Amino acid sequence: MFDMISFIERKRDGGAHTSQEIRDFVREFASGAVPDYQTSAWLMAVYHAGLDDDELREFTLALAHSGEVLSFEDLRIVDKHSTGGVGDKVTLLLAPLAASCGVRVAKLSGPGLGFTGGTVDKLESIPGFRTHLSSERFAGQVRKIGCAISGHSVDLAPAEGKFYALRDVTGTVPSLPLICSSIISKKIAGGADSFVFDVKCGAGAFMPDYERAERLASSLVSLSKNLGKKSVAMITDMDQPLGEWIGNSVEVMEAVTILQGGGPDDVREVVVNLAGAMVSIDSDSSFEEGCELAREKLIDGSALEQFRKMIVAQDGDPAVCDRPKEILPIACNTHYVTSPADGVIIALDARRVGEGVKRLGGGRMSMEEEIDLSVGARLIRKKGASVEKGETVLEVVYSSEEKLADALPFFNSAFSFDREGAVATTTDERSIILGKVS
Ligand code: URA
Repeated sequence: MFDMISFIERKRDGGAHTSQEIRDFVREFASGAVPDYQTSAWLMAVYHAGLDDDELREFTLALAHSGEVLSFEDLRIVDKHSTGGVGDKVTLLLAPLAASCGVRVAKLSGPGLGFTGGTVDKLESIPGFRTHLSSERFAGQVRKIGCAISGHSVDLAPAEGKFYALRDVTGTVPSLPLICSSIISKKIAGGADSFVFDVKCGAGAFMPDYERAERLASSLVSLSKNLGKKSVAMITDMDQPLGEWIGNSVEVMEAVTILQGGGPDDVREVVVNLAGAMVSIDSDSSFEEGCELAREKLIDGSALEQFRKMIVAQDGDPAVCDRPKEILPIACNTHYVTSPADGVIIALDARRVGEGVKRLGGGRMSMEEEIDLSVGARLIRKKGASVEKGETVLEVVYSSEEKLADALPFFNSAFSFDREGAVATTTDERSIILGKVS
């Protein structure tokens, strides 16, 4: 008989749990036999006392095996996880790019959280595209064409979802062992053999400063190693939004532009580095050779062709690869946010831009709400740019005047200007790739 009170007391007093105790606890909690108030007490004890390597490995495995675990049999699957950011359209590009380099990518994506958008919502804007695949179809597509992106099924690591919901209301989300087990249990349940993590760092990210981002990156890599999985974590900048467009259909449009050889450099850099990391953990190539191969596949159009194959395989309209502006739903009303004075943009708050797009209807204010896929915002000027009074810094595409009015205070306050002689540079000097842990 599992004794929850002793279990809580052991962690409260800094002791360690046995593997069997952890398995029993997760099973009892998932079945509803342990009340939320006791699990909350344990979560708070973990927040303060942590979990040692063995406990963390057992807890992660117990979460992963609390529901269906996908199997790709003989295929070696590499998955990527981003800690989330604004304008993060990386998965849309990375899955086909890495697949065009020979990596098998089975990407399971969740909905948008908070002020960040979700990949599944973005893909919904491609006419006909099937965003939720059965396990058989998902695995079959990866085997046949090399990549697939699908929404999570609720059966995948269901205990993790229950723990997350409780962490969210008990102040225990920011615990490194709980974050790492949450992320990695879902990857294991998704059938991945190795992982690449994109740990975002900056004002628009879960980890606002480099030290904390590096600690998370190291913890993710160390837990992966303890589970016998290869991994690399890249730390990438999320002080300002990634790329130019933020929204759903508009981010797909930007992703296609990059696959066609154009688009913003920052997104391309992040995607090439992550693809390089995926190639390096899946082959004998070095990280640098992986990045080189990824650059070639972007330039020669292979990644775009792989994207087309994925869209066809998931019943979407492949014309989006050729004429994205015509095929995607994009709102036709436009509003321009302008600079209030001459000066230099010294900060561009990604979180506020994300909140603005959410209020336009581009994200959910409640779980039941339908997203307006057609709205979004384009950053015409980013950090470091010199602007004149009245010059456009942000373009908004919207469908409701009322929602635009709700969104504008966020857009207007997202930019900070130095009017007193800061030195203008045309681009922000900080590199988009801040670090790598492997
Ligand atoms: N993302 C997750 O999936 N889990 C966490 O705990 C935090 C961020």
